[in-house]
Amino acid sequence: MSRPALPQAPLTCAGQTLPYWLVRSPRRRTIGLKVDERGLTVFAPASLPVAHLETLIQTRAAWIRTKWTECCQKSALRIAPREGALLPYLGRAVRLSLDSGPTRLEGEVLYLNPGRDDIPGTLRRWYQAQALPFFLPRVAQYAERLGVPLPAVALSNARRRWGSCHARGMIRLNWRLLKASPAEMDYVIAHEVTHLRHMNHGPEFRKTLQHLYPDHAEAHRTLRERGFLYQAF
Ligand SMILES: [Zn+2]
Repeated sequence: MSRPALPQAPLTCAGQTLPYWLVRSPRRRTIGLKVDERGLTVFAPASLPVAHLETLIQTRAAWIRTKWTECCQKSALRIAPREGALLPYLGRAVRLSLDSGPTRLEGEVLYLNPGRDDIPGTLRRWYQAQALPFFLPRVAQYAERLGVPLPAVALSNARRRWGSCHARGMIRLNWRLLKASPAEMDYVIAHEVTHLRHMNHGPEFRKTLQHLYPDHAEAHRTLRERGFLYQAF
């Protein structure tokens, strides 16, 4: 017979808050922790003091936080874009509205006409069509600031990489960066443009990037945290 999971007050682990359930069982000798989409479930012996449980949870806080982040990311990736969905675009949220007219962005509403195609595919093509015209002037601006010739720029469709710079001087930028904030986008662009000078991540590279884009550390951090949101389609 399975014991009921009793909801506890939400738990904060390494700075992240998640739902917390407790299952006590008289036959249980050890403590078990499970993290899934419901939150953290703790399986514990019936008589174990709460303070003991809380100490154990805090010693595993980093593991719990990592697992919970993975669960949230996986469930976010499963959400299919549909009528009324909020889509990330240049770091803000635009509402998706299916429409029989031409696909266009008006204010904070993206009117999308998928015709006979599927919605994610139509969305991808729309983002891809906007991406290069948006990226090019920014690449040009950073290249000029660094004093290097304007590189060739192409779009990439990589799942995890935001950008790359090839030895012959071509830069590839992930079209999904169009979903990111301008600060995050500029960080990737400045990083790749810096590679036109230094093809490694050594001290000279870091010094040049710091000069070219002083806020790179903060933008890198937010891109690492929010990047999964931009990978949903
Ligand atoms: Zn790099």
